[in-house]
Amino acid sequence: MERTLSIIKPDGVSHGLIGEVIRRFEKSNIKIVGMKLLKMTKTEAEGFYMVHKERPFFDSLTDFMSSGPVVVMVLEGEYVIDKNRRLMGATNPEEADEGTIRKDFATEIEKNVVHGSDSPETASVEIAYFFNRFEIVG
Ligand code: ATP
Ligand code: MG
Repeated sequence: MERTLSIIKPDGVSHGLIGEVIRRFEKSNIKIVGMKLLKMTKTEAEGFYMVHKERPFFDSLTDFMSSGPVVVMVLEGEYVIDKNRRLMGATNPEEADEGTIRKDFATEIEKNVVHGSDSPETASVEIAYFFNRFEIVG
């Protein structure tokens, strides 16, 4: 059994996609074991995306991620890290497969609706960034 961190990004929340994203998780038998709505500060967004610190889009990305509320979730299930990444689709919506969240709803490479951890190591760091153990109901 794996866990992963999902974020519905500010564009997903402002475009009214919270229910749609959660519906796709539930339809795929992915269990939600933690969930909250919050607004990151610029500093919190920089900490979260620290791996991208040297990338040219870092400042714009962290402005965007701190621009409005996000929904952070802990998802649980077999192979859920990969399963979530497949539901999300490629980073660039133009390259995302049909039927993925990003293909269906993302407006550009930065504003791509959802985040998902990409490995067990990043999942555990990212989950701990937002949730303490009392906030995860396993
Ligand atoms: P995420 O980490 O958000 O799940 P990802 O793993 O598919 O997305 P990363 O390479 O980790 O993609 O990039 C993190 C985020 O940075 C992307 O989701 C996107 O919002 C933004 N991003 C990535 N590449 C670019 C780019 N070339 N221009 C602008 N923004 C970008
Ligand atoms: Mg990533």
